[in-house]
Amino acid sequence: MADLKSAYNEFMSESILIVEDEPALQETLVYNLEKQGFMVTAVGDGRAALEAARTAAPDLIVLDIMLPELDGFEVCKILRKEMSVPILMLTARDDEIDRVVGLEVGADDYLTKPFSMRELIARVKAQLRRTQLVREELGRSQVQETSHKILTFDDLSLDLTRREVTLGGTVVALKPQEYDLLVFFAEHKGQMLTREFILERVWGWGYFGDSRTVDVHVRWLRQKFEQNPARPTRLVTVRGGGYRFEG
Ligand code: CA
Repeated sequence: MADLKSAYNEFMSESILIVEDEPALQETLVYNLEKQGFMVTAVGDGRAALEAARTAAPDLIVLDIMLPELDGFEVCKILRKEMSVPILMLTARDDEIDRVVGLEVGADDYLTKPFSMRELIARVKAQLRRTQLVREELGRSQVQETSHKILTFDDLSLDLTRREVTLGGTVVALKPQEYDLLVFFAEHKGQMLTREFILERVWGWGYFGDSRTVDVHVRWLRQKFEQNPARPTRLVTVRGGGYRFEG
């Protein structure tokens, strides 16, 4: 019983903003997330979404793409520049996915319609857990400033205590998922890692995962750390379905 209660309370105080113009779906999302103990606000267009995000500072945003006023792509791009809130996008078409997780828009995760409420809740909780971990690690690093753990590979250096990555002495800006993925590779240098294994260990999605997410993040890391991203030497593709970090 105690376990059930703490699981229920884990995200009790977290607030979620839902941006969905389809009334029936909006209502279903609100109902199911409130049932999980979240504080939920819902709006139905892109301009209202910007306003609500700025005034309420939610812990997570569920954002539909096709919206009146401003579409979800625009909303995500604008909010990305203003705040670091996790954004989970709802896509209706497969061909939107590359844009959704791409550099231009930069959503943290996405779900393709139709999806089950169970899957949505799992993704929401995974994102919030990730944010909590980052906060905890930041807190710890402030306390343990003296005992830095640093991994170095030639001109690439990962300061695990400060969550800071430098290339040739210059700090490289990374999103939390890019950082986590790079650290995971660094800790498994020389090993072939399958997309499924990476998804499970870095994203923790289990069978919900989509291996394209790994490919997209590897592409971003290559753009940041490879001299020639088209011919990678650090983060190489292994024939037969995986990647290997060479250092
Ligand atoms: Ca819509």
